[in-house]
Amino acid sequence: MVESRSNQKTIEQKSGVGSLLGAQKPSRSATPGVGKPCDGGMPADTFDPELFRENSETVLNRLESHLADSSIRGLELIDPETLTLAARALMTSEREKIAAFDEKRLDAITDLYIRTGIQVHSPGYMGRQFSGVVPLGGVVDFVSSVVNQPSSFYEAGQLPSVAERIMAEELNRFIGWEPDSFAMVTTSGGSLANLTALLAARNKMFPGFWSDGSPSGDGLPRPAIAVGADVHYSVSRAAGILGIGESQIVRLPINAEQQICLEQVRPALVAAEQRGLKVFALVASAGTTSVGAFDPLDGLADIAREAGIWLHVDGAHGASLLVSDRLRHKLRGIEKVDSVAWDAHKMMFVPAPCTLLFYRNKEDSLGAFQQRASYVFDEEPDRYTELDSGARNFECTKRPMIMPLWTLWSVYGPALFAEKIEYLCDLTGEIHRILLDEPDFETLHRPEANILCFRYRPAELPDDGVHRLQVAIRNRIKIRGNFFISKVNIDGVAALRVVMMNHQITAEHFRMLLGEIRRVGTDLLADAR
Ligand SMILES: *Cc1c(COP(=O)(O)O)cnc(C)c1O
Repeated sequence: MVESRSNQKTIEQKSGVGSLLGAQKPSRSATPGVGKPCDGGMPADTFDPELFRENSETVLNRLESHLADSSIRGLELIDPETLTLAARALMTSEREKIAAFDEKRLDAITDLYIRTGIQVHSPGYMGRQFSGVVPLGGVVDFVSSVVNQPSSFYEAGQLPSVAERIMAEELNRFIGWEPDSFAMVTTSGGSLANLTALLAARNKMFPGFWSDGSPSGDGLPRPAIAVGADVHYSVSRAAGILGIGESQIVRLPINAEQQICLEQVRPALVAAEQRGLKVFALVASAGTTSVGAFDPLDGLADIAREAGIWLHVDGAHGASLLVSDRLRHKLRGIEKVDSVAWDAHKMMFVPAPCTLLFYRNKEDSLGAFQQRASYVFDEEPDRYTELDSGARNFECTKRPMIMPLWTLWSVYGPALFAEKIEYLCDLTGEIHRILLDEPDFETLHRPEANILCFRYRPAELPDDGVHRLQVAIRNRIKIRGNFFISKVNIDGVAALRVVMMNHQITAEHFRMLLGEIRRVGTDLLADAR
């Protein structure tokens, strides 16, 4: 390193490049940038580091007050036409030459951006699975955006590539595989991780699929997957992309806790075989999206192994519970599965997207994409290209998404994540107990993680009005903007759904939400009369 740096210097001195660069350093003029050419006709300030600092400060001031605002709020829902007009009003009318920089424009854009989002850092945000980020994670993402080191290839993102390897080792300590035998690749979201894992599983059982397409012909079994009835939609979507039709998706029955019924898996697989299907993957959820239920991985792994089927765990939401000593048991058996999708942008509180896809067997990670492209994939990997993930992930240019996670892990250690996750799961248990004492509310499940679904059901509400009332409540709460919650259908009937992602939420805030639901619900019932 030191050597190459000094080499660099000599070259610069010899060729005079260094001084040339110095001479070209743009100076901030009193009227910044007005058509003043620097090089290539760019106005002097567009790339000026000093202006960069000033811009960053403008943005930082906005973000600091945003983070400091602990008021209870959800989303300011704006008519898209109105917002388009507001956004257009912030655009320069200059079309001929590069417009002069206007600090006020940047400030206004930042302000509009912040104001019009779901207020994930407020205790009013209880609605979705992306989280308020640990602020330092955002700072590191900012660095990523400036240094621009896409991470599918070692030479383009050296530290991100190494950080991926380190985080894979760190997180695998909670999964428990042999250190040298597993693999991890980052993907832009859990949906893409599910698709990638299923592709690897399909190609493993149907080695000719990549070159020849789907096996077809009389008597040939058709590729199929088996999933829990409450699996995330990205899994059935992935099936569609993989050439697996709806009729080739075996839906496994779930029990009252919304988990796959172990006893019914073998019979379902036998029935599928009789229908001419060959199930190549079983997808279990570790934290279903709707209620946060954990499928019994241990038992499913035994069945999958016995049947020679790949077991993929969609742990997009709940794999993070692995870092907690107290909660890890919900994923008992994880060491026996073939692959795990793990969203860090959910319960690890980093900017989206950041997903880690783990494979128990290193070789399996190479099975998803069976291509050669000479401009990127080296035929004979060396110690550098060995760290390339390009052959194992869909993306070519990929966000160095690991950096916020690795930095937080480096600076604070794993306890930051464990403690926040435990707080949120404990809180969800507490609000469940609160609900049990409220006669006009109906609870639907005991929370396994930080997701809770329930219904507002005052005595006077007829059964056939339950669904519509929950939907109307959810929508009106969204428009009022004090809280942000979501909605999900359970057994075909809508329920209100809260996801505790924000450690600033207390049981008191939840009681306030119940007050809001009652007010809104009572109004809606009165309107309907
Ligand atoms: C959120 C979620 C997904 C989708 O992940 P994205 O990162 O949003 O693409 C998949 N499965 C489950 C269980 C989820 O909760």
